[in-house]
Amino acid sequence: MAFAELAVNTPVLRPGSFSYSIPLGLEIKPGQAVWAPFGPKIVQGIVLEVSDQPAFGQTREICGVISDTPLLSFHQLNLAAWISQTYLCSIYEALSPMLPPSFERRSVAYISLEPSPLNKSEKPPATLSPSLQKIFDWLQTRDITPQTELENIFGKKTTQTAILKLINQGLINRTYQISPVRTQTKFEKHFGLSEQALAFIKDQTLPKLSPRQTEVFECLRENPQGISKSRLNLLVKNNAAILKALEKKELILTEEHQVFRQPIDYSHIETLPHLKLSPPQEKCLESINRSLNTPPEDDQNPRTFLLHGITGSGKTEIYLQALAEALRLGKKAIVLVPEISLTPQTIARFAGRFPGRVAVLHSRLSPGEQFDEWQRIKNGQADIVIGPRSALFAPLDKPGIIIIDEEHEWTYKQQNPQPRYHTRTVALKMTEEYGAVLVLGSATPDIDSYFKAQNGLYQLLELPERLTPYRGASLPKTELVDMRTELSEGNRSIFSRNLHASIEKVLAKHEQAILFINRRGGASFIQCRDCGYVAMCKSCDTPLTYHPDQENLVCHQCGRHYPNPLTCPNCKSRRIKYLGMGTQKLEEETGLAFPQAKLLRWDSDVTKGKDSHQQIMDKFSRHQADILIGTQMVAKGLDLPGVTLVGVINADISLNLPDFRAGERTFQLLAQVAGRAGRGLAGGKVVIQTYTPENYAIQSAVCHDYPGFYAKEIAYRRELNNPPFQKLACLVFSHLNHDFCQQQAILLAQTLREKADSAGSGTLEILGPAPAFIQRLRGRYRYQIILRSPNPANFLRDINLGQGWSIDIDPYGLC
Ligand code: ADP
Ligand code: ZN
Ligand code: ZN
Repeated sequence: MAFAELAVNTPVLRPGSFSYSIPLGLEIKPGQAVWAPFGPKIVQGIVLEVSDQPAFGQTREICGVISDTPLLSFHQLNLAAWISQTYLCSIYEALSPMLPPSFERRSVAYISLEPSPLNKSEKPPATLSPSLQKIFDWLQTRDITPQTELENIFGKKTTQTAILKLINQGLINRTYQISPVRTQTKFEKHFGLSEQALAFIKDQTLPKLSPRQTEVFECLRENPQGISKSRLNLLVKNNAAILKALEKKELILTEEHQVFRQPIDYSHIETLPHLKLSPPQEKCLESINRSLNTPPEDDQNPRTFLLHGITGSGKTEIYLQALAEALRLGKKAIVLVPEISLTPQTIARFAGRFPGRVAVLHSRLSPGEQFDEWQRIKNGQADIVIGPRSALFAPLDKPGIIIIDEEHEWTYKQQNPQPRYHTRTVALKMTEEYGAVLVLGSATPDIDSYFKAQNGLYQLLELPERLTPYRGASLPKTELVDMRTELSEGNRSIFSRNLHASIEKVLAKHEQAILFINRRGGASFIQCRDCGYVAMCKSCDTPLTYHPDQENLVCHQCGRHYPNPLTCPNCKSRRIKYLGMGTQKLEEETGLAFPQAKLLRWDSDVTKGKDSHQQIMDKFSRHQADILIGTQMVAKGLDLPGVTLVGVINADISLNLPDFRAGERTFQLLAQVAGRAGRGLAGGKVVIQTYTPENYAIQSAVCHDYPGFYAKEIAYRRELNNPPFQKLACLVFSHLNHDFCQQQAILLAQTLREKADSAGSGTLEILGPAPAFIQRLRGRYRYQIILRSPNPANFLRDINLGQGWSIDIDPYGLC
């Protein structure tokens, strides 16, 4: 008897796998997908291991296979095990990003009357409550009904309880069927000449054909590999009857071929040769190529590279030439870019250098395209996969190089659902396992990456300056405006006099401006209008959040409460403000201040559609608007030549978020705005408004001084025990009832503290519980506990948190 360990696609309370027995005659291999019973349901399972011993006593039988061959490789199964251990998620969650697109299928519940439809007319016992009776009556009108249909009619909760009761009374029956496949392999007819036709041609004994038949016949003759139906339709219109006639004469062969829906349209892509590298580029490429050509066991140097260079310094050209070297060595590659930079232009740049060898994976492709690209990669038909973070899990057989562009971008951290992985961390693990090379590129590296480079864990490669066509195009002039002075001199508008005058000038000259406000989520904080003082937590050094319901300030990091100051502790001013301004408010204010200007807003509220980013960019580049208003997304618009002014409305907003990465975030955003401009901004300028012009993040960004910023930031991190010196884990409990939610959080914090004490985990800090930054989400209250230690996952691994808790290891941003 053989047994299989399965990862099952259903919420489970313990992280491990489940044992099943394999029915006789069924051959099952690790990595294969199967159907398996789980409770009353049939669920999808992935085979992790096959053995002749079950891991647990009693086992049920696997019902059947979903895929005849393994979907996941041995390496991918290993990686999933590691992800589940590292991010404390179930093994199925860990491997779910590796599965083919549209793989997810559920069993659908159907309700029928028990025991057989013959008894339909039989009266139910009189004990049914009115609501049960209503549902039962409704069921009597049908043979079988999907449970979801009942839920839609009677409400989810009511239906679910009613069904359980009716099942218990033996009145109804619930069965499960598998939901239909959403995406399938696409086939197309292919036509070719038959053996007989070829013989006729050879002997010159071809029967007489009509002119139209000859036309089709010649087409087939010119395409000895066969021709697809769609192509033949282009060459000979209305060919169906002719094909039939030729088929009757046994002159043609018809076959079904799989067609790959290709997202890359090569008809507009130019094939381009490599550029001649500048000497600094040459040096960077040499280092990467040296690693590519050295077996990992012989390599004395780190095989991860941090390529630090501003936009336009030639990083992408280095990626392209390193990819060429990898391909030359027969290696495969993954290139990751933030979702927003995955534009047709970016894809064209890679596809144009490696025609036919690139596959693209991302969520904006149709399900069919995604499915086919995945299949194409799995079949070994693509050498380079390009996509956002999830493309890291493409079914490429052991990539030899992984490139992460804009590695500092926060979108590389998966927030929800599990696995809440960081792309960089997983990529690093993969490259270690596979002996591959990892290249991280950024103008403003993540503090963690630069720290590792400084400590010799990564090789640091620097590109000091911009290249042609920007060589000589200096960085734009950046002006810092102190908004405290504006206020003290009587300007209460959100526009400083400088920015106001600059916008007027731009409008008069019929040029374009971009206004930038980096508001994320429900940021709110308390600031003194006169001196810029921001209320901070004494033990965490993060800004406090105002809670109007309790009239006090709360630290979302450690949960400490502070009274709400009526006067500024710094200057005694009474002008204390609750601040928070988003793009919509800015649009409104801009419209009032510049009624003659045409405005365009760009933020996540207006970019839900498939090509909406591109549409906004196109609209703006055709000058259908004078001022573009948006969040950090607008940084992409800075490449437009018509733009001669960039205004940052309030540089402090991201600075004052209760997050230890606030300084880093602010620096990254401002450096991007101030450094990326440059292209069209010859003669233009950047105006940054702030209440804290002396802040190190703002100062360093204005001076384009990354090392200066890093030195200050890393000192703060060290002082406050924050990453990269310690690691964090964020536990969030959510529940509809506030008091219960709070209680559970208090209970867990207690349990954790007791465990920490008894284990003598001296370096482990447990902060909280405190209300999470988002205190209530979809009606649920949220409380959080933060753990800080060299390895919080180790401490948490064998603790059973129970339902309602979510874990985020190495969280980014606010929970
Ligand atoms: P980054 O990725 O750092 O933004 P790119 O590789 O996109 O930089 O280079 C910026 C511009 O300079 C591009 O237009 C690119 O074609 C050009 N470029 C890059 N390297 C060279 C080179 N060695 N010689 C000439 N032009 C180059
Ligand atoms: Zn003050
Ligand atoms: Zn605090």
